[in-house]
Amino acid sequence: MDCIFCKIAGKEISSSLIYEDENVVAFNDLNPQAPVHFLVIPKKHYSSLNEIDSKEVFAQIFSVIPEITKKLGIKEYRTVVNTGASAGQTVFHIHVHVMSGRNFTWPAG
Ligand code: 5GP
Ligand code: ZN
Repeated sequence: MDCIFCKIAGKEISSSLIYEDENVVAFNDLNPQAPVHFLVIPKKHYSSLNEIDSKEVFAQIFSVIPEITKKLGIKEYRTVVNTGASAGQTVFHIHVHVMSGRNFTWPAG
């Protein structure tokens, strides 16, 4: 399958990896929208949040976020999951954005 995030997870394409375990990788966003902006993805391909078929996958993705932010010394951050093109999803492999280092407005644009 021609999926850029599968290739990043499989190390076929290099990225700035900041975390890896058996199920999940996190890497810096290529086009950061904040001083800290990384993405957390499951290694297994799911095209969006709608496709995830197990609660374990949610736990695997979300439980590493406070682990990573703690290591980075970050206490406040925004997490975003865009689902579908109209919501801003451009890469169709589920990913959680984690952004920090500036003030964020609400509602998101
Ligand atoms: P989306 O718009 O789907 O929520 O977010 C996709 C994100 O992936 C964007 O923030 C974009 O900058 C990032 N991105 C797209 N291609 C690559 C890539 O090849 N490497 C990395 N590190 N990030 C990417
Ligand atoms: Zn994929």
